[in-house]
Amino acid sequence: MDRRDRAAPRQHVPALRPAGARGSARRVRFGHGKLRATNRDQQTVVMTTPRLLGYWRLRRRYIISNFRYQMLQWPNVTWLVDPDWREDERRRVGDYLQRGTRVNQQGGLSECRFCERHNGSAELTDGVYCWPEGLAHYVSEHDVRLPEEFVGHALSQPPVPPGLPQPSFDEKGRRDRSWPGPSFAHLLLALEGPCSDGFPVIRVDRSWWRQVTGMQGNA
Ligand SMILES: [Zn+2]
Repeated sequence: MDRRDRAAPRQHVPALRPAGARGSARRVRFGHGKLRATNRDQQTVVMTTPRLLGYWRLRRRYIISNFRYQMLQWPNVTWLVDPDWREDERRRVGDYLQRGTRVNQQGGLSECRFCERHNGSAELTDGVYCWPEGLAHYVSEHDVRLPEEFVGHALSQPPVPPGLPQPSFDEKGRRDRSWPGPSFAHLLLALEGPCSDGFPVIRVDRSWWRQVTGMQGNA
């Protein structure tokens, strides 16, 4: 069976507006656990709080005060390595992960659990899911295969509009802050609300990622 046949039902608010659509970006208000979005027809829709994914257990050699908490909270990234994942799907999912709306600037840089390179300091969201800025690196460079439900979601999204510049990442794993530029910014989810370092701060649902990776039930 094609993996996409088993995908989760598409959300009522897509990550990107259909190619060719014009007008202002959707404006989304957030807070109190729900996201409120106004579509192009000025209709207000309520989105569920985006599901967090792509957080990993720290490497064992890091002995820090919250080590035990970290061990229990997030999965070991090596559990999801699958070198046999179809290359075309891997490429499309990795590409999709680079193109979310930037939110939730963190205080420090993340570090890749495999190669220890800097791997960004913020999160990206499409309004349905929210993931670390460096998650695409794990998919593209370390054969990490994300859960079927998310893969189906990513593959079901509208194609990238022609001419949209490819995001680039600096030596600290941070996406070019000017991407996608004024001519394409309207294609991304637009968020309104509290900001930190100039970028929105949103709430996320942390339970799905723990559940789908078998971490649910741990304290
Ligand atoms: Zn790496």
